[in-house]
Amino acid sequence: MPDVEVWWARVEQARPEFLTDLNDVERERYAAYRRDEDKARFLLGVTLVRRVLGARMSLAPAAVVLDRACADCGRPHGKVRAKDVELSVTHSGDWIGIAVGTAPVGLDVERIAPEHDLDGVARMSLTPEEHQVFEQYEGAARARAFATYWTRKEAVLKASGEGITGVQNVVVSGPEEPAAVIRWDRQAQLTDLTVDDGYAAALAVLSPEPPALHVHQFRV
Ligand SMILES: [Zn+2]
Repeated sequence: MPDVEVWWARVEQARPEFLTDLNDVERERYAAYRRDEDKARFLLGVTLVRRVLGARMSLAPAAVVLDRACADCGRPHGKVRAKDVELSVTHSGDWIGIAVGTAPVGLDVERIAPEHDLDGVARMSLTPEEHQVFEQYEGAARARAFATYWTRKEAVLKASGEGITGVQNVVVSGPEEPAAVIRWDRQAQLTDLTVDDGYAAALAVLSPEPPALHVHQFRV
């Protein structure tokens, strides 16, 4: 049975002293962000990854070796990876989350956005059978339904590494049903996670059996 830890933090929890957890490349990237909110989000994300992995590996956060080599160009702006663990990082609005697992994991959080026009993005990202269910929702329930679909699908595609290009290949259960992969060419365990009222979140684990799941709130 795979083992998965999920950690949630709010952007406002970022502190300047977390910079000591970062390496030189990360500090350069931090300095290059122009908006304070982007700085805080990046800093907190790196700190979370380094502290959680450090605790698992009995290392100081700054001593954890992370690999961000881009699959296309080799520069350090790719998905973050570490030796011997599977990792997924997500952020939206006020929240940042990471999942660390012994099997491939995908974590996704999305702010529910009733102000957005969802018609175009729903047609692009939902399969015909999902879209048919989605079309029954209106108003605030429609925004929540879309966020539920999106996070479930995105979590699966993050776990497999195929990204958004695979969005039409995976069919997930409807918003009012328990989270599950209905049709896909691989086996995945899907779980909805509760962050707060304004957000939807889901975790996917590529495994034939459900993971032992441990969810934590980051405390400074
Ligand atoms: Zn690149």
